Amino acid sequence: MFRRALYIPRQSASLTGYHRLIPAIIFFTPPQPRRQFHSSSAQFNKPIKGTIYKMRDEVKDAVSSSNSHLDSSIAEDPSERHIDESWKLRAPYQIQKDEEFGPVKWEAMCHCGNVQYQIKRERPLAAKYCHCRACQVLHAAPFQWCAIFFKTDIRFKKGTDSLMFWSSHEKSKKYQVPTKVYCSNCNSPIMDEGRNMCLIFPELIDLGKTEEEHLVRRKVFEIDHHIFYSRRLVEVHDGKPKWSELDDKSNRLDDDGNKI
Ligand SMILES: [Zn+2]
Ligand SMILES: [Zn+2]
Repeated sequence: MFRRALYIPRQSASLTGYHRLIPAIIFFTPPQPRRQFHSSSAQFNKPIKGTIYKMRDEVKDAVSSSNSHLDSSIAEDPSERHIDESWKLRAPYQIQKDEEFGPVKWEAMCHCGNVQYQIKRERPLAAKYCHCRACQVLHAAPFQWCAIFFKTDIRFKKGTDSLMFWSSHEKSKKYQVPTKVYCSNCNSPIMDEGRNMCLIFPELIDLGKTEEEHLVRRKVFEIDHHIFYSRRLVEVHDGKPKWSELDDKSNRLDDDGNKI
């Protein structure tokens, strides 16, 4: 598979570049033809071997993807950008038969119901609250609650034609990962799509009808940690690990924001 290394230079946080960037090599994978994608999705579908540390590496990738969706300076050759609709042919957007996808664990939909998707993995790889400025503005909320899944854990049921994209780092509606994904009818944020992962928003998940169901099911999406807590608009006294910026690349803070 062809891969191309992209370099993200260090950049200080500013009013326009919300996240403090960290030197990193990002491997940009161009859109694959459908047949090739199936072979690569098979490897994602294998059970995750090894320890929590392997999981953590994958989650780091997701977090880095999630935050690079908000980055402002990916050194990308414009000729490499997605200019067609081939994204519809791969996860999570591609149409898959039930036997291909497997048993569904979670159902999610936007406010108007035009966009609906399903998840087959029972638990997210990780979940977090992000207090960065971009998340605050883009969600019009004190922080973003997201849960991380592989793209191949997700299948769109309907609404891929109703999607709208926003690339934070390019400030563009043109589809290019990482991107924010919205319903173009009701404007609900659907998910953030990164390179290999999607950050879904548990608010969209059907957590059942009764209060008991709701309480039990939402525990599945309970967060592991907070990031960008130094930019918080509200304090969250939940005793969860809190990082001033990106997790384990910044200072650990207590619930009141004091350095530990
Ligand atoms: Zn909608
Ligand atoms: Zn954020």
